[in-house]
Amino acid sequence: MNDTAGTLVKGQKVAVVGAGICGSLTAWFAQLSGLQVHVFESDEHKKSCSFTAAGMLAPMAELESSSDDIYQLGKHSIELWPSIIDSLPQKIFYRTSGTLVVSHRQDRGSYQQFVKSLQVKLNHKFNQECELLSCHSLERHALEPELTNLGEALHLKNEAQVDGNQALNALHDTLKKKAHWHVKDVNDINAFNVDGETFDWVFDCRGLKASKDIVGLHGVRGEVITVKAPQVNLFHMVRVMHPRYRIYIVPRENHHYMIGATEIQSDDDGPVSVRSTLELLSAAFSVHSGFAEARIISLNSHVRPTTMDHQPFIETQPGLTRLNGLYRHGFLLSPAVVAKVFNGLGMDVSEYLTGEPYAHCV
Ligand SMILES: Cc1cc2nc3c(=O)[nH]c(=O)nc-3n(C[C@H](O)[C@H](O)[C@H](O)COP(=O)(O)OP(=O)(O)OC[C@H]3O[C@@H](n4cnc5c(N)ncnc54)[C@H](O)[C@@H]3O)c2cc1C
Repeated sequence: MNDTAGTLVKGQKVAVVGAGICGSLTAWFAQLSGLQVHVFESDEHKKSCSFTAAGMLAPMAELESSSDDIYQLGKHSIELWPSIIDSLPQKIFYRTSGTLVVSHRQDRGSYQQFVKSLQVKLNHKFNQECELLSCHSLERHALEPELTNLGEALHLKNEAQVDGNQALNALHDTLKKKAHWHVKDVNDINAFNVDGETFDWVFDCRGLKASKDIVGLHGVRGEVITVKAPQVNLFHMVRVMHPRYRIYIVPRENHHYMIGATEIQSDDDGPVSVRSTLELLSAAFSVHSGFAEARIISLNSHVRPTTMDHQPFIETQPGLTRLNGLYRHGFLLSPAVVAKVFNGLGMDVSEYLTGEPYAHCV
């Protein structure tokens, strides 16, 4: 990011194009900073990639296949999320119980490889962030008494989750009241200008729709299934290590579970395939037989905006900042990425994002 591109001051008029999680947080930080905010969003039907996400804030679990930068930004976002939630009037589900990484005994190799990779990447921080357990001791530690049929488990203690749809709905409702909200498919985005209207700054947060302006931006398809499973009582996010596919189970309120996600090199955002449904659901059933009687609430798919190196794309020139390429990490990274951009533009977001522990964490 070019830190000398310019600065913003209170009262200036800014445009945010795209209200996925990245644009919504950009607009919210701008609003809190005292800017006059105009949001342009083309979709009234909550169909963006962000509405598909499982809302995991999992910098350690992701570290096996991502960089230290993403880990550091993710840790910062986990500090920021509670005060973002506190700044909004609606109740938003947010839980800090961490992730359990597990495997079936026959897949122990994949699990051990995962543990080794984290030991190398986290180095001396491994013991701060992680605890190695046997699944029998899960009961003793009162972690997940229903998962004792599996082999070992790694507890990633400092990971969190947010209900992404609740967070987005709360951000949208608040922005519709406090900012200027335009339902509009913007054609032309330039420095200081959106479709012919002049602004003091423009933020381009269009996700994959910005691909003609960002070299190498492409889609990675992901599918996720939400079920209601009254016979399953899980409290932690669970990641299952498997040699061919890896799945997660994210527990939500009222026995709802999100089971995901596929990772397919494709721009196809069509409905979830039979193959993915079979793989995701049978993997979940193999972890807990209580999923047999679960009811399918929804099958969702979308395409993650991804750069060639899987790193977030942050580019600032005078009058225009482009934020994109959040790939698997829109909820994990957006708070820290947006805070970094605002700091670069001379606006200190720490004034209103204190990082105080969120009073309603469960
Ligand atoms: C199955 C799945 C599970 C996921 N799980 C997680 C997870 O657990 N944790 C996590 O951190 N991330 C997760 N992700 C990734 C996350 O969803 C993405 O990184 C994130 O949604 C990207 O957000 P965005 O705001 O950049 O883009 P988008 O969500 O795509 O938002 C872009 C917005 O711009 C609007 N727009 C586009 N063009 C225009 C235009 N011309 N005019 C006006 N508006 C426009 C669109 O309508 C859209 O609302 C998951 C993704 C998938 C698919």
